[in-house]
Amino acid sequence: MNNMIKTTGKLLENEPMAKYTSWRVGGVAEKMYLPTDKQDLVLFLKTLPKETELFWLGLGSNLLVRDGGISGVVINTRNRLKSMSCVGENKVYVEVGVPCARVARFCVDNGLKGAEFLAGIPGTIGGALKMNAGAFGGETWDIVNTVDVVNRYGELERKPTEAFDISYRSVKGLKADEEWFLGAELTLSVGDTSQSLQQIKDLLEKRALSQPVNQPSCGSVFKNPEGDYAARLIEATDLKGYQIGGACVSEKHANFIVNINKATAADIEALIEHVQQAVKKQHGVDLQTEVCRVGRGK
Ligand SMILES: Cc1cc2nc3c(=O)[nH]c(=O)nc-3n(C[C@H](O)[C@H](O)[C@H](O)COP(=O)(O)OP(=O)(O)OC[C@H]3O[C@@H](n4cnc5c(N)ncnc54)[C@H](O)[C@@H]3O)c2cc1C
Repeated sequence: MNNMIKTTGKLLENEPMAKYTSWRVGGVAEKMYLPTDKQDLVLFLKTLPKETELFWLGLGSNLLVRDGGISGVVINTRNRLKSMSCVGENKVYVEVGVPCARVARFCVDNGLKGAEFLAGIPGTIGGALKMNAGAFGGETWDIVNTVDVVNRYGELERKPTEAFDISYRSVKGLKADEEWFLGAELTLSVGDTSQSLQQIKDLLEKRALSQPVNQPSCGSVFKNPEGDYAARLIEATDLKGYQIGGACVSEKHANFIVNINKATAADIEALIEHVQQAVKKQHGVDLQTEVCRVGRGK
């Protein structure tokens, strides 16, 4: 790395990814960069050798990091790219490291509605942009106006939503391993604060009733196949409670795999494959994973 230009963030080495994933599993990141802010991150990218592998991390709530860890540099955005502000009528600009729940609350506090569904999604806005995260009928890209993207050379570009191909839990349009989101301008509408707060309360209660929110998981492991629910198919295959090592299909919600006893990433991956094979055998349906898998096996 070029030491002539001074970056101010922190560069960690051999950082255990289990500390940063909601499943609490994963090998070490060879390096992890914690930028001070957006400008510092851009500077860091400009100084990096161009062949360096990069992986961007939000809150790790949709991530299976394999036990052999991640080579190159993990860019940790959580609570680093954290600015958020109202930028005109019904518009909010948010940097990618801001947790979704804070965005929901900020919009409500400013009398805006449309972001309530984000309240129960335990990730950052960056992760939500990448995954088109959604819940209770709302999806992230429904409220996106423009996004700011940075490439590995530290070059910035503002792009409209039309530059992306958006569908259920899928967003195409970033160059793989070359471009990432830095921030988004959201468009909302004028709302009623007490109604929005009630909506958030209701949806958090629904989650607590139907999901194992107090056990380490990554939320839904599989995408719902067209016209059906992954959870229904898994339950109908009698897999609730099925366990491999420390990983178990949740008794509370069959599309969740929970880490009940020091699971490894290999346990979780083996369980994912077992569920896919069993559902295919019994129902003829190929379940596709929603969760992102990264890193090397051991
Ligand atoms: C209990 C629980 C409930 C959940 N409920 C829901 C739900 O209702 N709906 C839903 O959609 N999801 C849900 N999830 C999954 C998860 O919270 C979302 O997918 C979330 O958007 C992931 O955000 P993150 O910051 O944690 O991303 P991470 O897990 O850190 O990363 C996910 C992917 O996004 C990429 N990424 C992160 N930041 C950027 C960036 N700035 N630019 C480009 N790529 C980036 C990563 O490289 C990775 O590929 C749930 C998870 C849990 C644990």
